[in-house]
Amino acid sequence: MKLTPDAHSRQDRAHRALMAEIDQNMRDTSAQTARSHLSPPVREALEKVNREDFVPVSRRQDAWNNYPLPIGYNQTISQPFIVALMTELLDLSPADRVLEIGTGSGYQTAILLQLAKEVFSIERIFALYEQAEVRLRPENTPTLHLRCGNGFSGWPEAAPFDAIIVTAAPETIPPALEQQLAENGRLVMPLGIPGLGQVLYRGVKHNGSLIMEAKLDVSFVPLIDNS
Ligand code: SAH
Repeated sequence: MKLTPDAHSRQDRAHRALMAEIDQNMRDTSAQTARSHLSPPVREALEKVNREDFVPVSRRQDAWNNYPLPIGYNQTISQPFIVALMTELLDLSPADRVLEIGTGSGYQTAILLQLAKEVFSIERIFALYEQAEVRLRPENTPTLHLRCGNGFSGWPEAAPFDAIIVTAAPETIPPALEQQLAENGRLVMPLGIPGLGQVLYRGVKHNGSLIMEAKLDVSFVPLIDNS
């Protein structure tokens, strides 16, 4: 998208204001999350990826607001603060291989691509999968792997993963995801029933077992098991 200098500075201001709001959200929730600020690489990734490119054209003016937006098919692009927090909780290193369940708009995927060596992302809705291919391929990188399918099964051929992020909520942890997490791997996901309360968890695998810690009340679309 080509912007006039005026539009550029409006966009910059809006982006800076959003980052300040995310910083404030991090501080306000630190008692629950144990993270009071974003680490520099996560902050840089959020500054670099343009959220406007991942929202419907008709909602571009809302791209720098700190709330989720509809992306069609009854799905949403997550709230920027939640994307920031979940990314932070993954504790990614540049050598990590990450599995994402729920590609959706591809925004979170683009952030992960900035921080990890390889990103595997699964989306169950074909049209969203195809759209993410178009959006993310130009930046490609042999480090991106997209698949249309059911995330409940994970991506067994590429396992184990150093980190797994799920951006829709199942009621319980899909066993395949637990199995496909490497030793010392991090799992960040919401659990619960939409409308009845969901909680964001961070899990770590130690000596083969997953220790889960509740972090924050959240609201996600359901992870649908259609296998
Ligand atoms: N990270 C995305 C979130 C999209 S919403 C973004 O910020 O845009 C969650 C996504 O999970 C939806 O696109 C939905 O279609 C997808 N989803 C739901 N159940 C799934 C499943 N079993 N396997 C893969 N994707 C699933």
